[in-house]
Amino acid sequence: MKIDEEKCIGCGNCVPYCPVSAISLNEKAEIDRERCVECGVCYRSGACPVDAIVIEELEYPRTLRSFFSDPLTVHKETGIPGRGTAEMKTNDVSNRFTETLLGLALEVGRPGISTSFEEVEKLTKRLVSLKRSGVPIEFEPDNPLTVLMNSETGELPEEIKKERVLSAIIEMRIPYEHVKRVLEEVKEVANEINTVFSLDFITRNIEGKRISEELLNIVQSAGFSPRPNGKTNVGLGRVGR
Ligand code: SF4
Ligand code: SF4
Repeated sequence: MKIDEEKCIGCGNCVPYCPVSAISLNEKAEIDRERCVECGVCYRSGACPVDAIVIEELEYPRTLRSFFSDPLTVHKETGIPGRGTAEMKTNDVSNRFTETLLGLALEVGRPGISTSFEEVEKLTKRLVSLKRSGVPIEFEPDNPLTVLMNSETGELPEEIKKERVLSAIIEMRIPYEHVKRVLEEVKEVANEINTVFSLDFITRNIEGKRISEELLNIVQSAGFSPRPNGKTNVGLGRVGR
């Protein structure tokens, strides 16, 4: 995103719209290109009275900022808009999560703080290493991060590591009996992460099984403080993948 200096009248209307405080105002508005995650909020807000906010033609790897930060941008690799797959956003539309397989997502970065891919890689490397040691982690193939990371090492391409995005989501399926081991590993690497991240669990509630309660116990015993939340999906799902 950039500001057309000729048009900008320095009104400051755009400044509060930026979720990462990348816009500053002197006589005219200025965008800090390093901080800007190309989310498009300033442009879409319609805050500028003189149309001085201009969408730039981005080149790789900067395009990733937009793919991971602007929900309206579709990832070229997956054809899916946003940071996670449809399954993540609407919970269980294709029976991906079962009685034995838990959905686990790690959302790295949030509006206000954002993240670089360098931080995300600290988690992907550790998780892939865990997988190679025998823990059956299944990374979601349609997730844009899965497409980017090296499946043998968990490394992300060198040229993208400094790119900043609002957040990136690592999506996995894990058999319930391995959840504690994965969480312990995540807990260990958490101290090295230079941004915020949240853990999301996606379970199927099966009558009489009380999976959610069991899961809460596992999460607590791994040293996390769970905050149960619900999301109701109203719509037409599809069966199978
Ligand atoms: S595109 Fe997003 S991050 Fe960049 S300046 Fe505009 S609001 Fe801020
Ligand atoms: S809203 Fe438009 S005119 Fe006002 S400071 Fe921002 S870019 Fe400049």
